Amino acid sequence: MEDVIIIGAGAAGLTAAIYAGRKKLNAVLVTGPNIGGETNSTNDIQNYPGYEGPGPELMKKFWAQAKKWGVQVKEARVTKVTHAGHFTLELDSGEKMESRAVILCYGRERRKLNIPGEDQFFGRGLSTCTTCDAPLFPNKDTVVIGGGNSAVEGALELARIARKVYLVHRRDRFRADEVTVEKARAEPKIEIILNASPAEIKGDKFVKSLVVEDAVSKERRELPVQGIFSEIGWETHTGMVAGLVETNQAGEIVVDVLLRTKTPGLYACGDLTSVPYKQTVISAGHGAVAALEAYKFVTGAKH
Ligand code: NAP
Repeated sequence: MEDVIIIGAGAAGLTAAIYAGRKKLNAVLVTGPNIGGETNSTNDIQNYPGYEGPGPELMKKFWAQAKKWGVQVKEARVTKVTHAGHFTLELDSGEKMESRAVILCYGRERRKLNIPGEDQFFGRGLSTCTTCDAPLFPNKDTVVIGGGNSAVEGALELARIARKVYLVHRRDRFRADEVTVEKARAEPKIEIILNASPAEIKGDKFVKSLVVEDAVSKERRELPVQGIFSEIGWETHTGMVAGLVETNQAGEIVVDVLLRTKTPGLYACGDLTSVPYKQTVISAGHGAVAALEAYKFVTGAKH
């Protein structure tokens, strides 16, 4: 029986491991091969206090610190978590693990465009995070793909930095809040292209254009841009903790300010939670809070 099992080794999971280690909890980090998680996909972090540079470098520091505090690591995928007094985790290997507390830090998956050039240009002009990467495109020509709040808000954010922002949406109306759409329509730097699906990303070493296809005429148009922001939403997988957590409309795990889910001893951190700001610094903070709460829970200490 472990004290705490942390699932996922991004900023949240690694921070939880550091805190659990310093509290001398018997902690196991169960993770796939991607140590560092989503932060690894950002080339230039400018908003993590005390650090500026590539995301993977920052995550290497988190990882080294977690190992220093003695976290045990198990490379596996958790397929199911059940609760009956304590938690039982089933792994893809068929093995089972037991723990008094569990911290969910396994993030979410970005929806893919599934178009040619997507994998080749990811991190070379193609980004999935306007908040993170918009400052890298001052006075550049850019495009945001999507029709939800992330895309329209992202276009507005970019318009403050970039020279030009195309906002490409595959339908004739936006899913985003009307007030936000009105702001985008009023912004002279934003050109809205509706009924247009992204078809191909072109470039050499870096992005040079996005090809879009009209939904009706099927005519193709090439938008000359240096930056492409795919803001087409995310998927949070919660099947393995079904019944143990509540989810919101977006499918994210609902937590309180102490990162508690509806099941005592089960915590959730970072991008898979209902907390709206998906940022490395926030995930790290979540990991710290959840590990300290798990410590109280496991040791029976009073609030
Ligand atoms: P979303 O609401 O799921 O919107 C995704 C958008 O991408 C949709 O317009 C969708 O088109 C489009 N899309 C999906 N797959 C596509 C593809 N393969 N090619 C082209 N377009 C594609 O995602 P989100 O904007 O990230 O928002 C997620 C949640 O967070 C929402 O509940 C949103 O309201 C919330 N949010 C709130 C705020 C805020 O309140 N300030 C800010 C950001 C996000 P269709 O419309 O055709 O499906």
